[in-house]
Amino acid sequence: MRLAVQYCPYCGEQDLRPREEPAGAWECADCRSTFVITPVHQEARR
Ligand SMILES: [Zn+2]
Repeated sequence: MRLAVQYCPYCGEQDLRPREEPAGAWECADCRSTFVITPVHQEARR
């Protein structure tokens, strides 16, 4: 399951493309930066 990313952490653009490698990586179509989102375990129950 891939996490959805809203904004590029480098330039703030929203035109992000998922990449096959490395796993969970996204590429920003604007600044061409590739970054990996690391899931952080969160407690969902209230
Ligand atoms: Zn960017």
